[in-house]
Amino acid sequence: MRALLLTLFATSCADPEAGKQPIQASPYVLALGTAQDGGLPQLGCERPCCEAARRDPSLRRLRTCLLLVEPSSGHRWLFEATPDIPLQLELSRGHGAPRSRSDGGRPAPFDGVFITHAHFGHYTGLAHFGREAYGANDLPVYCSERMANFLTANGPWSQLVDMDQIECRPVQPGAPVELRPNLSVEAILVPHRDEFSDTFAWIIRGPERSLLFLPDIDKWERFDTDINELLQEVDYALIDATFYGPDELPGRDMSEIPHPFIVESIERFRELPAEVRDRVHFLHLNHSNPAATPGSQAAAHVRTAGHNVCAEGALFQL
Ligand SMILES: [Zn+2]
Ligand SMILES: [Zn+2]
Repeated sequence: MRALLLTLFATSCADPEAGKQPIQASPYVLALGTAQDGGLPQLGCERPCCEAARRDPSLRRLRTCLLLVEPSSGHRWLFEATPDIPLQLELSRGHGAPRSRSDGGRPAPFDGVFITHAHFGHYTGLAHFGREAYGANDLPVYCSERMANFLTANGPWSQLVDMDQIECRPVQPGAPVELRPNLSVEAILVPHRDEFSDTFAWIIRGPERSLLFLPDIDKWERFDTDINELLQEVDYALIDATFYGPDELPGRDMSEIPHPFIVESIERFRELPAEVRDRVHFLHLNHSNPAATPGSQAAAHVRTAGHNVCAEGALFQL
């Protein structure tokens, strides 16, 4: 496994200097959150999954979010603006550096934000860039055309657009966004419950390695792209693992909220070579997912199958 697990998150509270130095020379991706839209613990859940996380902060997970960093220039980009963005901005300290503005205004916290789709856990953190909070200036938001139209046409997001706090930059699938020399991001269209926007996955390509970020999809068989082929083309795959199995939400019709179960993904990826299976890092974990708990039988099953459960603070070198 080439992903490095950082202890930075744990140490940064005790030592304010920890993590302030660039830790890698080449670009990297840092996992700032790994939970499904509701987070862990989830609002109102009194089952053992969330009660345990309330008692033990090490079991908590922030909403799925990545930071892409180019240490040599200090550039950094956020993937998903989640409701946990205030904490995730804190966790970004020391990874890249917001550059000062020529007009003396507040430096942009990120060089841009990439959004996969318009479900609550993935974009509503944009509100923090508005006048009630950060008051950003022309912050680029990369997303699909439909997502850009949604933000532009509907309040409160339209106010961010009208006041030039965010600047929507629609991206076409298959047309890479060149961020820096040897650093690009490409969109892939993904089937999902697309009430307000369509849904993207992103492939981030660095000088040496590439990373697939696919936090939400209905089911693998509805995907126009063969996921097993895609896994062979990238070096890391951070993919939808909302639910572990079909019996996880008693009393709820899970066909209304389709996702590939971890047990289905394990079965689908079973014939792939071990080094390809090791590229899989499951994330977007629902609070009910037993694999979210380190040391659980479910987490052990994931590892036995040759995959990984993405940890917060995991670092993927590009
Ligand atoms: Zn989601
Ligand atoms: Zn979603």
